[in-house]
Amino acid sequence: MTEYPPQDADENSLWNDGAIAGPVIEPLTGSLRADVLVVGGGYTGLSSALHLAEKGISVILLEARSVGFGGSGRNAGLVNAGIWKTPDDVQSLIGPEAASRFNLALRDSPSLVFDLVERFNMQCRAERCGTVHIAHKAGAMAYLEDRCRQLQNLGAGVELIDGNQAHVISGSPVYRHGGILDPNAGTIHPLSYARSLAHAAIDQGALLFRQSRIESLTRRDDRWLATTTNGNVSAEQVIIATNAYADANSEGVRESILPVFIFHCATAPLPADVAASIIPQRQGLWDTDSLLTSSRIDAEGRLVMSAPGRLPGTQRPIRRNWLMRKRDRLYPQLKGTPWAYQWSGQIGVTSTKILRVQLLAPRVFAPAGYNGRGIGVGTVMGKRLAESIASGNRDDFPFPIEALYREKWSKIRAGYHDYGTLLLQFFNHRG
Ligand SMILES: Cc1cc2nc3c(=O)[nH]c(=O)nc-3n(C[C@H](O)[C@H](O)[C@H](O)COP(=O)(O)OP(=O)(O)OC[C@H]3O[C@@H](n4cnc5c(N)ncnc54)[C@H](O)[C@@H]3O)c2cc1C
Repeated sequence: MTEYPPQDADENSLWNDGAIAGPVIEPLTGSLRADVLVVGGGYTGLSSALHLAEKGISVILLEARSVGFGGSGRNAGLVNAGIWKTPDDVQSLIGPEAASRFNLALRDSPSLVFDLVERFNMQCRAERCGTVHIAHKAGAMAYLEDRCRQLQNLGAGVELIDGNQAHVISGSPVYRHGGILDPNAGTIHPLSYARSLAHAAIDQGALLFRQSRIESLTRRDDRWLATTTNGNVSAEQVIIATNAYADANSEGVRESILPVFIFHCATAPLPADVAASIIPQRQGLWDTDSLLTSSRIDAEGRLVMSAPGRLPGTQRPIRRNWLMRKRDRLYPQLKGTPWAYQWSGQIGVTSTKILRVQLLAPRVFAPAGYNGRGIGVGTVMGKRLAESIASGNRDDFPFPIEALYREKWSKIRAGYHDYGTLLLQFFNHRG
């Protein structure tokens, strides 16, 4: 049976082109039992299922649409370590002991991703070519220098690069102030990585179902019972991995984050000489601008850029044109090149900009709020949840587990962000 297209009908994501086929999976019918139920087929849910199955724990994963339908099939594919906040920020928010576990767990997250790719021979265009947090102006270097120092104190193998190196790495006349290079990071084809995780999880014995939205989760005789339109699953423990795509059926997750949009535009494959002049060593870049953009060249020589915002109706030309102006300023050799693809996705933002693991009810875990940094984080999260469930011991789990949490005024704040970025992009004629 063919998978549903993982993107909304009116957007044409680059990642649908050239993604590997997902595993052939069916909607859930009938009644099943497992040790653990995982809800959501993104990196978090798939990594949980894979690592649980590897430990011989019976696991069923229910996905409302198709594997990679959420952020995991739509992102920029930059496999970065850590989170947006610096290690010191994490420390001041959760205290030194908890921060040490938290920061160390995510310091090497790209290694886990690239190790899985190698171990399971995943065909997801993984390239450990490094990523660069790049300064868009000289004034941004003070922040990057401090960030780099904190990461180095943590033992991360990052290095500060100067203006000339930034210019050579990016091929841009704008990025000439410096940045932080993480040579251990890299890029992937995001949807192929999600589908590869699904293949690996199934190979290890996990049962996956598509088009199987959970509609209720209730307690029955010390177990949890999840129902879908045509079936149900009884499990001892549950991981709700719906993150920014949480629906009304996982309200505890939905209300704990602000759903914020990011969009992408990509060119068609560029002529070889032009493609070679932009980010020639193929690192993934993201800049320090307040309207942050990321840039990468994919395996076929297309420039892929991302920026804040969504793409419905009249917003689309405003955002596309703004990103084209910015692109032409960053990479003037592309002037006149049309965008060939555009798509968007939601990230789960938290007020603290730190991810959250809620204990929604006894033995119901809900990790969410990765703030746009989820390839490494989701993969690590799934592995560490699996380890904690397998050992029955939460002492080694590196992320604080909270009781129920609500972000206040989440819809209004997300709307404010959305229209705020739209206005900035509309009035920013320079790009
Ligand atoms: C445009 C964009 C660019 C990004 N760029 C990067 C990047 O370059 N690097 C990086 O590290 N991170 C990036 N991110 C963030 C990253 O993609 C996410 O953090 C990550 O994919 C989250 O994975 P997840 O498994 O937690 O959630 P998701 O991948 O969102 O998966 C949640 C799943 O739950 C399912 N679901 C929802 N409700 C139900 C239900 N009731 N029953 C069953 N299933 C349900 C959804 O269909 C969905 O498939 C980006 C995100 C976006 C949107």
